[in-house]
Amino acid sequence: MLGFSIQKLLFTVAAIFAVWYGFKWVGRMKKVREREARERLRRQAGNGGGAGTSESGEFGAGVSVSGAAEEMLECPTCGAFVAITGAKSCGKADCPYPG
Ligand SMILES: [Zn+2]
Repeated sequence: MLGFSIQKLLFTVAAIFAVWYGFKWVGRMKKVREREARERLRRQAGNGGGAGTSESGEFGAGVSVSGAAEEMLECPTCGAFVAITGAKSCGKADCPYPG
């Protein structure tokens, strides 16, 4: 009387493979679900429009401050952009800015 037969051995191997693949599948599903949740959160934050998020408000203030600091004017004659404060002539005769 044998303790185990070929059939029992095959069944055991099959069961081990089934459990192994099951764990692999569960891990993959978990990863996919985590990624989906993260993307949903990011999308919600983007659609929120800064309702109570201090981050977006700080970003907006920073952009506006830097824009005011570097205000530029386009020269109507040559098309070159010059700073409003201390605008200089580009050298052309029709340039409105002082040389
Ligand atoms: Zn000019």
